[in-house]
Amino acid sequence: MDTTDRSDVADLLRGLPAVDAIARDARLSDLPQRAVVREARRLLDAVRDAVRDGSLGRSDATRDALVARLREAVHASLAQRHRRVINATGIAAGYAVVEVDPRSGQRNQREEAVAALLTELTGAPAAIVVNNNAAAVVLVLRALAEGREVVVSRGELVEIGGGFRMPDVMAQSGCRMVEVGTTNRTHLRDYERAIGPATAMLLKVHTSNFRVLGFCASPALGELATLGRARGVCVFDDLGSGLLAPEVPEGLGDEPRVRDSLAAGVNVVSFSGDKLLGGPQCGIVLGDAALVARIRAHPLYRAVRCDKLTLAALEATLLIYRDGDPLAEVPALRAIARSPDALCDVATRLSVALSIDGASVRVSESFAGSGANPARALPSFAVVLPGGARVAERLRQFARPAVFCRVADDAVWLDARTLADEDLDEVARVIRSALSC
Ligand SMILES: *Cc1c(COP(=O)(O)O)cnc(C)c1O
Repeated sequence: MDTTDRSDVADLLRGLPAVDAIARDARLSDLPQRAVVREARRLLDAVRDAVRDGSLGRSDATRDALVARLREAVHASLAQRHRRVINATGIAAGYAVVEVDPRSGQRNQREEAVAALLTELTGAPAAIVVNNNAAAVVLVLRALAEGREVVVSRGELVEIGGGFRMPDVMAQSGCRMVEVGTTNRTHLRDYERAIGPATAMLLKVHTSNFRVLGFCASPALGELATLGRARGVCVFDDLGSGLLAPEVPEGLGDEPRVRDSLAAGVNVVSFSGDKLLGGPQCGIVLGDAALVARIRAHPLYRAVRCDKLTLAALEATLLIYRDGDPLAEVPALRAIARSPDALCDVATRLSVALSIDGASVRVSESFAGSGANPARALPSFAVVLPGGARVAERLRQFARPAVFCRVADDAVWLDARTLADEDLDEVARVIRSALSC
């Protein structure tokens, strides 16, 4: 290296901005300041090394070039963390926004408080909470029917996904499954004939994620409960989605409510805390006090009970049901309950705020999600952007918060159903910024 080169390097190094100066650049003001400072320090170290060994020239060390590289570095570093995302898929259920009061306290107190809320809200005599509804079903079967027979309709041998298949769950729980009826029609007398000395339970499974339409039949839950009581076998209803709200939003069709199942007289019900309920991942078991006590005393309970933070989050969600307005405050229900007019308005406002060439507002179809009302799409509206999968990928990767959307007909569909009114300006801003960087 000759003298001119060396003075050039010294010149370049002197010309580099300080960490603070570049971190305060207005073009980075939408990014978290701490991450910007951290990445600015890292970037400038790397740039200095590269200038010294001659691998970085003047044109790569300009302020503009450094800001662009810093922006990328901050994005990449944030991509590794858990973070808030914007749901523009139009699929309503399955995500929760609750403010958790993390005050510490005895686990038992939390458990009791949650059980008290559940019994108050549903009228069930007793309640326990475990990790998820899959665990709840296995636990109930093991505690109440292990080594004995469980009668179930052939029309309800569901696979939920993630390997949860009713026949396998029965086998895992040590129960003998007795199938009755046919795929489309099962009658009360089918259950009646199947009950024998080894029968422990009649099981009803909500066909969450599919529908059999046409020539089909199954006995009313109340009839099943009466039969179980007359013959001394317990009746267990695996409800799946767990609709707890007193009013059923129009978009949910015939989705069964928890309180209807209990009112029909079944002995035990179970459902997810994170489907239509809109709470944290957990499984809820409600039922007769003596049966719930047996379930709670089973050794498996200790292995599948949920942690304190989950209980705190569930408590916060249940308080909305007790003291608030779940259709307005639980995101999944609020999204499902929105009217087409309101959705058209949201999509139009988003489109205006985005002001992107080629964007249009189109009629769209969204879904309740979580296996609720799977056969019926909910009419919705979407802002459609040109670009397809490539643009969708950019929105997931570079937008902060990340934006999740649907891709169809080689375009990106931002469905209004799951976008909150108060978030529209932010959504427009992060999308514009992700598409321009
Ligand atoms: C979803 C579902 C389950 C499993 O619930 P998780 O909370 O996801 O474990 C079990 N049974 C039925 C009928 C379901 O719909």
